[in-house]
Amino acid sequence: MKKDKVLLLIVCQFFILAGIFLIDTSVNGPAKEQAIGVLFTLLILITVMLIGMRIRTFLQLKQINKAIKRAVQGNLKTRLWTNPDHTLDDIIFSINELIEEAEEIQIQSLQSQQAREKILSGISHDLRTPLTSIIGYIDALKDGIAASETEKQAYLDIISRKSSRLKHLVDELFHMAKIDADEIHLEEEQLDFAEITRESLIAFLPDLKQEAIALHTTIPEKTCFIQADRLSLTRVIGNLLKNALYYGKEGKVLGVELTESANEYQLLIWDQGPGISDQDMPYVFDKMYRVDQSRNQWNKGSGLGLAIAKALVEKQHGKIWVESNPWTRTTFGFSLPKYDEKNLFKKQLRNH
Ligand code: ATP
Ligand code: MG
Repeated sequence: MKKDKVLLLIVCQFFILAGIFLIDTSVNGPAKEQAIGVLFTLLILITVMLIGMRIRTFLQLKQINKAIKRAVQGNLKTRLWTNPDHTLDDIIFSINELIEEAEEIQIQSLQSQQAREKILSGISHDLRTPLTSIIGYIDALKDGIAASETEKQAYLDIISRKSSRLKHLVDELFHMAKIDADEIHLEEEQLDFAEITRESLIAFLPDLKQEAIALHTTIPEKTCFIQADRLSLTRVIGNLLKNALYYGKEGKVLGVELTESANEYQLLIWDQGPGISDQDMPYVFDKMYRVDQSRNQWNKGSGLGLAIAKALVEKQHGKIWVESNPWTRTTFGFSLPKYDEKNLFKKQLRNH
């Protein structure tokens, strides 16, 4: 209500009345009646204008009320128009903003509901498939379909493998659900990034040897202090190493580089395998996303490893990314802030 015309007209009315009173008491002669006549006409005109404006405002308020009711009933495409006199512009803009925000929230909640449904159907498929197969093999064993001892052993091996896959999936799902619900407690402390990277690598040496994969490492000898949660850090490195080893094994090279910038350390884990196409790139960190299902049929992953890594890195104020040039270099990298005693102390104080 930038220009309050009503107030202006009321002030005019007041001045006209004051004018009439003054003329009536202090002026005599024919001019007096003429002046009072003019002022009265003005007064009537202003009053008519005021009544007109009141009716217009009343109609506009009715319109606003109708639009709000429409929005409340779910029609969030509703928008209000301003009137030529602009008296209610501020209110109309604010209501439009509110309706726009409500529309955005509605779209987001719809999208997250669709994403949840997709994840749920993915989970149920991933649980049902190995379970059906386990039940099938157990029934076959029960019915004595496996003739020889070797065949029985083969069935048992399949059951054991599929059960392990199920356990892995359930563990990952449980971990992801805990992260989503913010129930993971991260014990941030001073850690040597270089040492933890070396420790994580050691666990993969037998697999590297078995697959005849060459290891290229650039890890500084000096300590590289970061502030992070030990378990989560080990998990992130492990997930990325496992992926490079699984999906990049055909490239026969695994690279691990730890680099330093002003405020953070970056760990790059790369391979020279088939990589990830541009179409898949935006989704690799999504829950349950697996690239090219047919190519990866041998893959027994849950599609949660990268989603978990991303959530854990971001919870520790870091960033995670991927770059892929198929058969040349596919790099998964993440950065974590350098150890800063003051910052850590402040954070610990906040947590207690
Ligand atoms: P999990 O890690 O839970 O056992 P997963 O490996 O299938 O299962 P992610 O680690 O989230 O799940 O990886 C998602 C997908 O990204 C993988 O299925 C794979 O297709 C692709 N991917 C990941 N790392 C690489 C890589 N280094 N090269 C090529 N593709 C990769
Ligand atoms: Mg994985």
